[in-house]
Amino acid sequence: MENVLKLPLEQMCELLARKDVSSVELTKKYLENIENNAKLNAFITVCADSALLQAAKADQARLKGEKLPALAGVPFAVKDNICVEGIRTTCGSKMLADFVPPYTATAVRKLLNDGGVLLGKTNMDEFGMGSHSDTSFFGAVRNPLDPQRSAGGSSGGSAAAVASNCAAYALGSDTGGSVRLPSAFCGTVGMKPTYGAVSRYGLVAFASSLDQIGVITSDVWGNAAVMKSICGRDEMDTTSEDISWKSDPEDTDLKDLKIGVACTEGASEAVAWAARTLRLHGASVKDIALPRADTLVAAYYVISACEASSNLARYDGVRYGYRGEGDDVERLFVTGRSAAFGDEVKRRIMLGTFCLSRGMGEEYYKNATAARRKICEELERVFEDCDVILCPAAKGTAPLFADISCVPLDNYKDDAFTVAANLAGIPALCVPVTAENLKLPLSVQLMGRKFSEALLYRVGAFLEREAQK
Ligand code: GLN
Repeated sequence: MENVLKLPLEQMCELLARKDVSSVELTKKYLENIENNAKLNAFITVCADSALLQAAKADQARLKGEKLPALAGVPFAVKDNICVEGIRTTCGSKMLADFVPPYTATAVRKLLNDGGVLLGKTNMDEFGMGSHSDTSFFGAVRNPLDPQRSAGGSSGGSAAAVASNCAAYALGSDTGGSVRLPSAFCGTVGMKPTYGAVSRYGLVAFASSLDQIGVITSDVWGNAAVMKSICGRDEMDTTSEDISWKSDPEDTDLKDLKIGVACTEGASEAVAWAARTLRLHGASVKDIALPRADTLVAAYYVISACEASSNLARYDGVRYGYRGEGDDVERLFVTGRSAAFGDEVKRRIMLGTFCLSRGMGEEYYKNATAARRKICEELERVFEDCDVILCPAAKGTAPLFADISCVPLDNYKDDAFTVAANLAGIPALCVPVTAENLKLPLSVQLMGRKFSEALLYRVGAFLEREAQK
């Protein structure tokens, strides 16, 4: 029973289906483990009572012999920028520290409808802005593999929860790498789906043209199972679309597969190993070039800051959120926003407002969107004769908190590996390929054409199997 929390998702689902373990037993174990790992600061809110009720409901349905979805009774966690009715959703900010949404995000609704058990809401960089989950109003998340190190960000709480067996899987959000970077640092599997593959209804907006809800698990099969449950067209999000699943993660035939390897400085051993392994098993592997790192980072930071400055304008403390002081409405806004936003969020709002201000729009926003179009074209050309891009997810392994630069630009540059997939709206999967003998995992990133999630899972599952041999 102790080890049941460490099982791959598929086996956990089987145990539940065979009634070898009940969802209530499992939920209690997770809640206990969350308490034992409180020092990781992975959760902002734990919903013990409602989780136990949901688990009891799943058990009852199973006892009645109802045919249940694969994930029924499985306990999960949700990043705290994804709304759940009646449970506070803080976005890691003082601004929303007491905000309780009156509705539930479609992705969470789907999981709950499938009989999922929501354990709690996970810690994150404030409004998703950051790479180490250290800009949270609720304190930094710690990496379960070494608490002196970053868990990555901004979905650091979700990755830390999965890596410490405090949840069977977790939802995160990814605007510029926030599912993949924490996955790379914590050794979890992270999927940033195609833009539109998962409804964003109920996800608090950071940069709407880049935001996607993503999935964090300990194994590739489990990730695909969760993704299948949450994806698809939703009337509440006009950008959402249905996605088809043509390929099977069990399919190990790599013969017709064309892999493009981007040789960059990050995690080169892991990428070289993956390229060798794929070639050995029949895939054709060739070198490709990705768009320039400095262009990617500049385009991403201008576009995301512009969109964020507009999206975050709604936090005025009038209907909800932190309320400032003052006799007139302007004072109320100024005092509230000054007191309730952290430094990084203020920096992005100022940067975005500057880039959109009269006379500057031309120079910054328009140039950035033109660069984005070029980036998309370059990637489309790569995909003309390559099915999957293999590249690093991060510059290296999880850094020590003490080594993280306090110069924002230094940190922004590290996003060069992940932002291409957001700018182009394509899916990207981060898979750990070395962990056993090293203290810290090394991961690779797989990117594909729009809606090629199934193929990425197939290649990811293959690499996962080979890495465990
Ligand atoms: N490091 C990125 C940023 O700070 C991560 C954004 C994200 O994916 N939420 O913008």
